[in-house]
Amino acid sequence: MPLPPICTTFEPYFLLSNDKLNDIVDHFIKEMEGGLLDYGKDVAMVPSYVTGVPDGTEEGTFLALDLGGTNLRVCEVRLFGQHKFEMKQQKYKVSDELKQGEARVLFDYIADSVDAFLTEIGSDISSNEPMHLGFTFSFPVEQTAIDAGKLLTWTKGFAAKNAVGNDVVKLLQDAFDRKHIHVRCSAIVNDTVGTLLSRSYQSGPALIGAIFGTGTNGAFIDKTRTIKKLGEDKIKEAEAGGQHAGEYMVVNTEWGAFDNERNCLPISIFDNKLDRESINPRKQAFEKQVSGMYLGEITRNILLHLIDASVLFKGYSSKIINTHYGYDTAFVSGVEAAKSPEEVKDLIIKQLGVDSKHIAEGDAEIVQWACRVVSERACKLAACAIAAVVKHTGNDKIPSNGEEDKGVDVGIDGSVAEFLPRFAERVSETLVELLGEEGGKRIRTGLAKDGSGVGAALTALQAKKAMDKRT
Ligand code: BGC
Ligand code: MG
Repeated sequence: MPLPPICTTFEPYFLLSNDKLNDIVDHFIKEMEGGLLDYGKDVAMVPSYVTGVPDGTEEGTFLALDLGGTNLRVCEVRLFGQHKFEMKQQKYKVSDELKQGEARVLFDYIADSVDAFLTEIGSDISSNEPMHLGFTFSFPVEQTAIDAGKLLTWTKGFAAKNAVGNDVVKLLQDAFDRKHIHVRCSAIVNDTVGTLLSRSYQSGPALIGAIFGTGTNGAFIDKTRTIKKLGEDKIKEAEAGGQHAGEYMVVNTEWGAFDNERNCLPISIFDNKLDRESINPRKQAFEKQVSGMYLGEITRNILLHLIDASVLFKGYSSKIINTHYGYDTAFVSGVEAAKSPEEVKDLIIKQLGVDSKHIAEGDAEIVQWACRVVSERACKLAACAIAAVVKHTGNDKIPSNGEEDKGVDVGIDGSVAEFLPRFAERVSETLVELLGEEGGKRIRTGLAKDGSGVGAALTALQAKKAMDKRT
């Protein structure tokens, strides 16, 4: 059965032409380069004060905290060198009340979780050493050092009060101190930075660490000199091997906020509805088309529209479809993975709660169409972000200095990357479209799971080394 004509009218917002994608990459590069020049930009291009990436020989045992995805995780990571690590971890639920209540209560809860971990699971760090903790905090933070930075804005369903503008390390350290928990937060690290470090530790030097999970973002290594907003003095100090820096620095792009101004992203009525009903309207424009928190919701808006237009489910909805964030992106992945319309029909009944008598012939295909176009756009946009970083760093071309071409490695983590069928293939195909055969094929993407834990440990190690050097 052909799709109802109403469906095809929406396709231009989802099935993006190569011209459109190239235009998005150009805008992307402009916004990223703007963020390197000035503070206060949406694409914040945060200097992480992490200098270079590990080589796999690092050793030590560290605590790691991971806040910002689906759960709060407390981990103890043991780095063995030789690219190997071992990890103990415990997950703690973060309720919506905690996410949206007082920041102090949230940070007390985090400190209590670390305490619970230490009592219930226990630590191998000898009791006469201070316990160094790396804090993977996956939100935009304007860092001023490896262990200091102010929260710029919350994202992904968090909105705790009295946190924006405050130093996140201090919020956490104060909570530890109030409770007499003898842990020192020695580094704050974005999950993308963690992913980049973890990927490099495990499988050799990477250029980019990217998250396509609940939210989306990327970090990469740039010349410190390129981060002009640091100011000439700081840059010179950094290049001279100053306290926290070196010739290279990892930059956290915060690309989720790309095109908040709406200059080039394809904004359909479904995106507008999602944005308007979100807790952060007009923010995280790119994230809202790419990441796991939203893909299910976009398809829900599409299905609702088609139901209201009486071209789907005989005009009948279900409680789940009527509920804001009523189902999540796992449904989209499930439909994308389904081998037949019958399988899709089954998912519609079981996961969307639609009454089977309301499912007409062709309805499964319509749902499949919605999931496909939404996923297709997410994957293509994901590739645009990667292509923009690759171009900005000049890595879209084979090195002309006669050195062996080792290609470009991109470490990726997150539920969309892991569970959305054919994510990596679709990204790679688009990279070839955008950068040509030669440029596109140089880019290797690989899943780097647990970046948040291992990356936090590696950052804590770097911070500890810098601290030891000073004392
Ligand atoms: C945050 C980033 C984070 C990304 C992935 C975004 O919402 O702003 O800091 O890296 O989600 O977790
Ligand atoms: Mg995570």
